[in-house]
Amino acid sequence: MFLRIDKLQFALPASNQTDPNSAAAVQELLGGRFGEMSTLMNYMYQSFNMRGRDKVKPYYDLIANIATEELGHIELVAATINSLLNGASPPSADPASAPLSGALGARNLHHFLNTGQGAMAVNSMNAPWQGDYIFNTGDLVVDLLHNFFLETGARMGKARVYEMVSHPTARAAVGYLLVRGGVHQVAYAKALEELTGANVTKMLPMPNIDNARFPDAKKLEDQGIHHKLYRFSPNDYKDLAAVWRGPHPNGDGDVEVVNGPPEGGPLATLPEQPAVASPGYDPGELAEIARRLMSAA
Ligand code: MN
Ligand code: MN
Repeated sequence: MFLRIDKLQFALPASNQTDPNSAAAVQELLGGRFGEMSTLMNYMYQSFNMRGRDKVKPYYDLIANIATEELGHIELVAATINSLLNGASPPSADPASAPLSGALGARNLHHFLNTGQGAMAVNSMNAPWQGDYIFNTGDLVVDLLHNFFLETGARMGKARVYEMVSHPTARAAVGYLLVRGGVHQVAYAKALEELTGANVTKMLPMPNIDNARFPDAKKLEDQGIHHKLYRFSPNDYKDLAAVWRGPHPNGDGDVEVVNGPPEGGPLATLPEQPAVASPGYDPGELAEIARRLMSAA
């Protein structure tokens, strides 16, 4: 089962500049083949379906725990997209003034036509995320090898989105995800080494671009975030420490398990967007109804 904390895993800087086309690019990191929905669902189903998990518990714990981190990454990417879509329509609800005409220049019209300027389970070209992006043979070595490959593809996507967008909120989020994806790459490499003896960490970083080249990732590596694997459970998944131990392949010290979630940051309250009727035609009235409900509770 899952608990939920109403915070983001990372203190996302507020956006003061609307940028719907960068929001469309960031969608690749949410609903793309190598996006956060894919890492989440791959690790989630692999953990649901694992046979003999009492015999391979460190690997079960590792995959199940990383799945939980990925759920928070979806939340973070969605918050990023929502921030970039903030103010992308004018504060007018008069349909006669065509308040959404400015959105015709946006790459993803569904952000305006199908949602209230919100994140969607689609990629940067608006193609939906698909269940067959999940790879789960049931063979632990094959699945771990796939997970290493998946994190590698995810790293490629993050690097390219970073090269495409210059919005500071998007870059901060992508920098964080580059560092966390790097942790997962190393974790699956270490798991494969334990199981097979193959030196997979020699293939890192892949793509061969050091995180130090991305200023928003370097800042976090300077704080040692790339050494930490957070354990997202009060009492469970402790055996992941049998895999997440020893030196980091960067050669800058040993990795460590952190018992508990990262400090994180607040989930911003984004203002209403009247031109897309979000959250409703009269936000003041909705707030009054909500106040009445809360005082009656
Ligand atoms: Mn992730
Ligand atoms: Mn990951």
